[in-house]
Amino acid sequence: MLAPLALLLLAAPPPAAPSTFESLVGRALTDGATLATVTDLADRIGPRLVGSDGAAEAVRWAVAQFQTAGVPVRTERVKVARWIRGEERGEVLRGPGRQGGPLALTALGGSAPTPAGGVEAEVVEVTSLAALATAPVEGRIVYFHHRMSSWEGYGEASELRSYGPAEAAARGAVATMVRSAATGSLRSPHTGAAVFRAGDRPIPAVALATEDGDALHRWLQAGPVRVRLQLGCRTEPDVESANVVAEIRGREKPAEVVLLGAHLDSWDLAVGAQDDGAGVAMVLETARLISRMRPGPRRTVRFVLFMGEEHGGAGASAYADAHASEVHVAALESDAGAGRPLWIYFRGGEGSESFLAPLLHPLAALGVDPIPRKHTLYGEDLKALARKRGLPTVHLWQDPSHYFDVHHSAADTLDKIDPVALARSAAATAWLTWSLADAAGTLAPPPIEPPPPAR
Ligand SMILES: [Zn+2]
Repeated sequence: MLAPLALLLLAAPPPAAPSTFESLVGRALTDGATLATVTDLADRIGPRLVGSDGAAEAVRWAVAQFQTAGVPVRTERVKVARWIRGEERGEVLRGPGRQGGPLALTALGGSAPTPAGGVEAEVVEVTSLAALATAPVEGRIVYFHHRMSSWEGYGEASELRSYGPAEAAARGAVATMVRSAATGSLRSPHTGAAVFRAGDRPIPAVALATEDGDALHRWLQAGPVRVRLQLGCRTEPDVESANVVAEIRGREKPAEVVLLGAHLDSWDLAVGAQDDGAGVAMVLETARLISRMRPGPRRTVRFVLFMGEEHGGAGASAYADAHASEVHVAALESDAGAGRPLWIYFRGGEGSESFLAPLLHPLAALGVDPIPRKHTLYGEDLKALARKRGLPTVHLWQDPSHYFDVHHSAADTLDKIDPVALARSAAATAWLTWSLADAAGTLAPPPIEPPPPAR
């Protein structure tokens, strides 16, 4: 005779097939694959500056990753800029009340080199682009002083970094320095792109570690300061590179595309573990998980690893040129580091909140506020496309508290990634992507994004 427990076991139904939520979220939380992927990218490929050998290797690596996952993949050609850093040094000259000494600095992408003997000039401090109009910048090195005390100040700080050099050059400055757009520093300067357009006069442009910027600001209160800069960077002719595009075809509406993107390039000072290695790994994990779903998603999910987001945005423009006529029912970009998932922002037409609410509800289990929030367009790689067609965007907002401590600096290394936060964000990304691709309906498109303000 069987014991009651054994009877119960015999009567138990076979284990249920995992739910969609378990298949996506459960696996992303437990399989360790997102961390393994970003580790592989960081350790085996390393820095991926657009136009560099590292970026070319990253393209081959990404293609192989999708192939291993069994997701059909192709490359799409992109012509990109090739800027090479070279040596970089700077010093403050001795003066009243200060010893002088080396500055912790790094050239901005696109910076011109200094003449062979360096450039030496008096420094003039300005705190905004508008202030350039009245400051005596002719023949001087302009220092842009702007304290970025929290992540919310990044927009303003990065505007000075991006557009300050060309505007200062137009007014006769010989070089520029900007306080790093960063919330934390151990004397590690944070780079970024200096935008010089056709007709602009490129000049040497550097970022100072926040500590050095603050010291310079203090010394300037006491009297004139002279700085010497020596930069060996150079710009070479554009080279061929590629976006990596992989796709899981929709079972019912293959012509309707949900796009999930991240950018494959990084800055050259480190391995870009957070910017945007983490995003790339989350995209690959989402591809792996969705490719195993049976049946597959109702609509096509397209994974795009863009080339050149950090400098020039060539991959985003090439994608928009090639694909603007296709129906993109939603687009997401993972380019916010490796923090834990917090909120969902969207940009969509009428009825978007009520459409999104039921899709987001399960994300509460991951600590995400499931109430969708309206936002302006997010995602550098999505902007070119959003300026050509009404593009609904959905954005997973990850905890940004420490992202700008390391972003664009030599400190953007793997050890800064919290594996649990990364796995949660990967899980939320997989769920969000699947839900948008498999929902009965779609988001209403918002208006076409207006062009950026002319400068
Ligand atoms: Zn990025």
